[in-house]
Amino acid sequence: MKVFIACLGTETNSFAAMPTGWTNFEETMLYRGDATKHTPSTFSLPLHVWRKATEERQGQVVESVAAFAQPAGTTVKSVYEGLRDEVLADLRAAMPVDIVLLSMHGAMTADGYEDCEGDLLSEVRKIVGPDVVIGGELDLHCSITPEMIEAADVLVTFKEYPHIDVAERAEEIFTICQAAHEGTANPVMAVHDTRMINMWRTPVEPMKGFVADMQASEGTGDILSVSFAHGFPWQDVPHTSAKMLVITDGDAELAASTAKGFADRLWDMKEETQGETVSIDDALDAAAAGPGPVVMADVADNAGGGAPSDSTFILRRALERGDRDLLIGYFWDPVAARFCEEAGEGESLDLRVGGKCGPSSGDPVDIRVTIKRIVHDAEQTFGDAQMTMGTAVWLSTDAGIDLILTSKRTQVFHPDGMEQLGITPANYKGIVVKSIQHFYAGFAPIASKVIYVSAPGAIPRDYAAIPYKRFDDKYWPRDDVSQL
Ligand SMILES: [Zn+2]
Repeated sequence: MKVFIACLGTETNSFAAMPTGWTNFEETMLYRGDATKHTPSTFSLPLHVWRKATEERQGQVVESVAAFAQPAGTTVKSVYEGLRDEVLADLRAAMPVDIVLLSMHGAMTADGYEDCEGDLLSEVRKIVGPDVVIGGELDLHCSITPEMIEAADVLVTFKEYPHIDVAERAEEIFTICQAAHEGTANPVMAVHDTRMINMWRTPVEPMKGFVADMQASEGTGDILSVSFAHGFPWQDVPHTSAKMLVITDGDAELAASTAKGFADRLWDMKEETQGETVSIDDALDAAAAGPGPVVMADVADNAGGGAPSDSTFILRRALERGDRDLLIGYFWDPVAARFCEEAGEGESLDLRVGGKCGPSSGDPVDIRVTIKRIVHDAEQTFGDAQMTMGTAVWLSTDAGIDLILTSKRTQVFHPDGMEQLGITPANYKGIVVKSIQHFYAGFAPIASKVIYVSAPGAIPRDYAAIPYKRFDDKYWPRDDVSQL
């Protein structure tokens, strides 16, 4: 058995200003054939699993590119084509192969390629022909397209958000693909569109039970795999909405009816799963009322969703109101961080903070700051991984609001990113974290309360108001449900 493995992906925010180019891939992850010799990250982890599973069965592995970029705007055409063509050239050179396994995000758009995964899978199919098994693992924030379903035999998405089940899904894909290769299974896929745009948190009910039921149904009868592709609301493509994806052993009708059954259940609990957000003023009122720290998620400026992470809306409002004892981070502001490096720790200066990436960042804030601490090569914990922050700077202000700048764009994952600067996060009345959900595991234990704030930004939480141009289906929560 000869297995070809590769990874190519990013999560494209169609509304984000910063293009996704070579620098982003180089900074985030770019291996050429040796990713499995390095520490796994979310999207290279499947390659580690697939290599091990193949070698345990005395199979041969051909490992190609493993490339992933931090979510941002549309990928540059030549960059996508360059990476894709490297994968395809490696595949041609490796032929004949029995199985192709790809780790992808599922919401990648490049100039001229609205559906990069559909394109990549189709090109792979052209090379390998109809009989080779093609399997793919996708982030659950993906857009499933007819092209992807047509070209692949087996597609499986993560089930958990935060994404803690990457390795388990990779193992399942391997098992199904190997069975298909040996002729003991005949995977058939069906998709059902939920007609919904939302974000679903799987550690809490009712989604926790929903995921458990998806898992429980696998292995019953001919059901091989059940995925819920949540979709990525800010990838503006014709297939943005959330979809159920079911694989059965040769039973197309069962796949379709199972997908519809789970989609109906999601529809019935749509109000219950709609995340609650509050206004900036309500969030700041809650922090002022105490006890602290109230952790306020600035979800619209989450770098993990392609936002710049330098918006100033909450900072500006807090300054206007005179709120004190707040900590706000991380502002991606390499220019301001550089000014602070020139000045040095302990110095005070007038600094222009944030608001530099475009209208969704708001206006910059000019403020007198004192540099409390500068840490180079700063890091924060995310699951089993250490995420880099570049240079991190802790600033205090006379207004009683502390700020953290980073030279590298990142969302807030864990309090240890703040503690390495000498900060004690628990001492603040309120902590504003620029993140949607991945901060939760680290901050919930120290928070008196966690609040999701509906501030403006590049990825605003109001799903009914996303200015889609390419996605033109009717959907909840925007359109009249009687028409859906
Ligand atoms: Zn995701």
